[in-house]
Amino acid sequence: MSGVNLSGIVKQYWGYDTLRPLQARAMDCVIENRDSLVVLPTGGGKSLCFQAPALAMDGLAVVISPLISLMKDQVGALRAVGVAAGCINSSMTGASRRETHQALQSGTLKLLYVAPERVVQPAFIEYLKKLRLSFIAVDEAHCISQWGHDFRPEYRALECLRGAIPGIALHCYTATATPHVQTDICASMGLRSPEIVIGSFVRPNLIYSTERRTKLLEQVLEVIGRHQGESGIIYCITRKKVDELCAQLRAHGLSALPYHAGLDASKREEHQEAFSREGAEIIVATVAFGMGIDKPDVRYVVHTGMPKSIEHYQQESGRAGRDGLDAECRLFYSGSDFQLWKTIMGDEEGASSGVALTKLNDMYSYCTGMRCRHQVLTSYFGERLEKSNCGACDICLGSADLAPDGLTIAQKILSCIVRLGELAGPSYTTLILTGSREPRVVEKRHDKLSTWGLLREIKAPLVRDWIEQLAEQEYVRKQGEYNILEVTERGRDLLRGVGAPRLSAPGGLKKSVARTAARGVSAKGWGQAERELFEALRALRREIAAERHAPALTVFGDLALRDMVLRRPVNKTQFLEVAGVGEKKCRDYADLFLPVIREHQERMQDENA
Ligand code: ADP
Ligand code: ZN
Repeated sequence: MSGVNLSGIVKQYWGYDTLRPLQARAMDCVIENRDSLVVLPTGGGKSLCFQAPALAMDGLAVVISPLISLMKDQVGALRAVGVAAGCINSSMTGASRRETHQALQSGTLKLLYVAPERVVQPAFIEYLKKLRLSFIAVDEAHCISQWGHDFRPEYRALECLRGAIPGIALHCYTATATPHVQTDICASMGLRSPEIVIGSFVRPNLIYSTERRTKLLEQVLEVIGRHQGESGIIYCITRKKVDELCAQLRAHGLSALPYHAGLDASKREEHQEAFSREGAEIIVATVAFGMGIDKPDVRYVVHTGMPKSIEHYQQESGRAGRDGLDAECRLFYSGSDFQLWKTIMGDEEGASSGVALTKLNDMYSYCTGMRCRHQVLTSYFGERLEKSNCGACDICLGSADLAPDGLTIAQKILSCIVRLGELAGPSYTTLILTGSREPRVVEKRHDKLSTWGLLREIKAPLVRDWIEQLAEQEYVRKQGEYNILEVTERGRDLLRGVGAPRLSAPGGLKKSVARTAARGVSAKGWGQAERELFEALRALRREIAAERHAPALTVFGDLALRDMVLRRPVNKTQFLEVAGVGEKKCRDYADLFLPVIREHQERMQDENA
């Protein structure tokens, strides 16, 4: 690369010592004016891919971004590290508009954030053409595709950019991995033999687990209890559930706020801001929440019901741990969620199609399944996970918690399916196995079957899970709209005693979940002293953020605070070595943070003396 010192720029402004490998590749494309499509998971560091080159290049980079809140946060974060960035949007006052205009005319601005609907206005395009542009970056580029999970009509209009400003390179960024969406973006935007940079979607810092929903409030409180003082998102399927759970959490003295489409726009914005700025620790939300959220230190994401697809789950749970530190993704599910989604989707036109149902089914198998969660999530997007034990999900951490007599249990279930003539679904089969005397069972004289009550000592939900686990391991197949169970060839082998099915032990999941939780805590490996210092630094950050009406992240992320705890810098030179401390932040904050660290050190020495 021709003498451009990108690492130097990144160190000077952002305070990071190294570029991630794919960031470097993505940045090269920008510097060399080659069109690109960059697909990195949430937290992969996409913003830096265009922000750092914008500083290295002559002229102005135009960044297209879908939401005002997102724009504001990004511009705020850039200014906080000393980058000349601005935005133009409908919520601005005349004065700040003039200010941006002046900065543009004088050529001092390096990055300009604009909404898609504005950038395509002919007058605005003419305006841009008179400026010296370095490149155009399209953030959240999947919004252009109908196949993406967040299609936005205003993004479609971006198709005209290539023709309107032909000489300028286009760079698109997204976290949506499906190949369909990727080709769609390249075609719609008219990218010219783009360099395609695709990152791994494996997020080893996210610890995944699922659990059947029993006493939801207790289950949720248990997760929160492990993350005191940390930020978390709790997703619910319906608005009603959001309001109800949020009220319950508040009654427990927790600082939780609701977020859903039923609240008016200003309330939603207010709650989102409170969450970003650490005025509230917990946000209880429907899936309406998330797109505009750019908070790197979300330490847990809880789903109180099953999401409607694995794509959705990956997206929503992926909002945890963007800073790369450990975070917990917990999913509470129940068979009734499946029905609820069917009802909800039934109301949406065409959504109850085969595709949507298949996605629901895949999601349900994920919930009840016994395959490594990371394995399922990544293979869904066509990526192979090499490790056989991820060490970061309930299945891998709890692999000792399998039922010791899996083969016998499986044989009981399979023979029951055969006795029912392979004509019944999972729920009915469960009734027979657990020895139900429901009228429909008695009427059909199924209580006289030899397999009736074979598993009567086991609770029905577990038997139901076992059936799903057998389906996932392809010992049985679910057919048609009613999921009629059939025994597969593999299943017939099992009946002959050949094979080793993996079925969860009664109560086993509880143990593995406990282990999952333990990993979250032990990874930090902190004692009381470290925790206290961290809390003191967080309190200071909160104070500064509140005073300046800025998101906490424009002060420092958790990553920087943790590095401070680790390094205990005593002077400015050492402060500058902390990850996430660039030159401007060192100037702005060293005098505020160093005394807190020093004071803590002195107190520790006194206590040890
Ligand atoms: P994305 O937009 O892909 O979701 P972000 O750009 O928000 O990701 O970056 C996620 C987090 O990683 C941010 O806190 C960012 O400051 C941090 N980050 C990005 N690049 C680096 C790097 N090279 N070294 C350390 N931290 C980084
Ligand atoms: Zn795993």
